[in-house]
Amino acid sequence: MSESYFWWTEEQKKVAREVGQFVEENFTAAEEYYWKKEFPWHLVKRVAEKGYFGAGIPREYGGMELGATGSCIVAEELGRLYAVGHVFVVSMLAGLEQILKYATEEQKKKWLPKLAKGDELGAVCITEPFAGSDAANVMTTAEKDGDEWIINGKKRYITGAGVSDRYFIYAKTSEEKSDRKQYAHLTSFLVEKGTPGFSLERINPLIGFENVPNGYLSFEDVRIPDENRIGPVGKGWNVMMAGLNFERLIAGAVFVGTLKDIIKLLFHYTQRRVQFRRTTDRYQGNQNEIAEIISMYRMGRVFSYYCAKEIDDGKEPMINSSIAKMVISEYVRKAGQKAIQVMGGDGLTKFYFAERLMREGKIGEIVAGTTDIQKMIIYRFSSMLPDYNASMRMRWNEDINAPIISNADSKFKGFEVNEENILKVIAHDYKVNPGLYMTIDDIREDIGTGRSKTRKIVESLEEQGLVVTYRDRASNIKLVKATYVGLQKAFPKEYYEWYPEWYADADKF
Ligand SMILES: Cc1cc2nc3c(=O)[nH]c(=O)nc-3n(C[C@H](O)[C@H](O)[C@H](O)COP(=O)(O)OP(=O)(O)OC[C@H]3O[C@@H](n4cnc5c(N)ncnc54)[C@H](O)[C@@H]3O)c2cc1C
Repeated sequence: MSESYFWWTEEQKKVAREVGQFVEENFTAAEEYYWKKEFPWHLVKRVAEKGYFGAGIPREYGGMELGATGSCIVAEELGRLYAVGHVFVVSMLAGLEQILKYATEEQKKKWLPKLAKGDELGAVCITEPFAGSDAANVMTTAEKDGDEWIINGKKRYITGAGVSDRYFIYAKTSEEKSDRKQYAHLTSFLVEKGTPGFSLERINPLIGFENVPNGYLSFEDVRIPDENRIGPVGKGWNVMMAGLNFERLIAGAVFVGTLKDIIKLLFHYTQRRVQFRRTTDRYQGNQNEIAEIISMYRMGRVFSYYCAKEIDDGKEPMINSSIAKMVISEYVRKAGQKAIQVMGGDGLTKFYFAERLMREGKIGEIVAGTTDIQKMIIYRFSSMLPDYNASMRMRWNEDINAPIISNADSKFKGFEVNEENILKVIAHDYKVNPGLYMTIDDIREDIGTGRSKTRKIVESLEEQGLVVTYRDRASNIKLVKATYVGLQKAFPKEYYEWYPEWYADADKF
């Protein structure tokens, strides 16, 4: 049984034990389905009977109400059943958070109990032939016709295509440039299997998706009632974003259990494989690889559940959910590669699941937003955090005769604000950070003056060739540094010199 964390509720711990037991009992059956390349309908039905599809759904709509933590617990275990895990994830992602946040009470009552019971599988349909990472670029259209919408277009890479009954799609409802600019051109809908004009176009043969159907969908004048619209017209992007943190978290968590399985396999295998009259677990290199996999498993797992707790506490962990999804996918791919190395040729055969783990990890690095896109999110949102944007000014410390990070005022603070002194501030900064420009705010802070006055003086210094500026597209000054002429004018050359004590005077010139 996997370790439970101290912050889990008794109910979450109980479900973890039960779903763990369920997976142990069905592990062999899942492997059989994998080998037969057959969709595991029977296992999916068993998961549905247990109510696990309703892990994150409130009780009033027929779910287990175990929150993001409970959903992760179920995903972690079901991921060990391979196709079942993938189907569980997409079915959860096919509108759970979106319906909870955007649907009307009537729609919630209609869709959520079906989702919770799992007697209908769901698929999420964002990607199109011409819209991948650029998810807002969907070309599928939805046109209003009385109380109905007519959908035309194509979706691709849809996990659960064909076997799902419920398809959560995003379609374009406005061609206005201004709507596109404000991400107000999309609307989300639920389309049911069997609706005339809605068909399965193709099944993708993908690495790592042996018995998981993933395919293309075609919509030709598909008429759906307005009741199937989730959220307001033009708010599709917001609906998509509503479930993002939960989706990324679950997309990562589904792989966590497989990391533990590979650790078990490696201990088992290396204790039974003998080379050079020693079992291969005695080789330090193999131990190192296994130790690294264990570290990845434990780090990835604890971080997932930390992130789940944040969601359960009502936070929107945009950065952390991207990190969770990104690092776990990477861990799984790396763990697969390491496991293959530890097992040698056996690792490369399909009889052990080391090579499958590597392929699964690679899928994780593409699906639900590629690793590059996660990095983009992590960087962009972090760059807005005041925590990471606090001042790190360096000041010249006369006692130790070196530049050090300091909160002290600049030695120019309180000087008269004129061209001569502002040039000194900028030139002095060359001594402190020779390779860096200063912002207008840095200069203001150092001497103590207003923004427009500083700008004017800097512009005048620029005209005289004493400073150079770096400007934005609107031609506003962003950064300033002194030219060599400016440096000479501000201070004598000795001002900028610095030598360590051990450096011989005789070698100076
Ligand atoms: C196994 C599998 C299952 C999937 N299941 C579903 C599903 O159920 N529903 C669904 O809607 N979609 C699904 N997808 C689609 C998946 O979400 C997309 O494949 C993914 O978002 C990447 O889009 P793309 O494949 O078109 O690659 P592209 O967007 O064409 O990207 C190609 C490369 O360019 C990089 N790139 C693109 N834009 C940027 C940028 N701005 N900055 C830096 N790098 C960039 C990408 O990181 C990538 O490396 C699935 C995909 C796979 C492989």
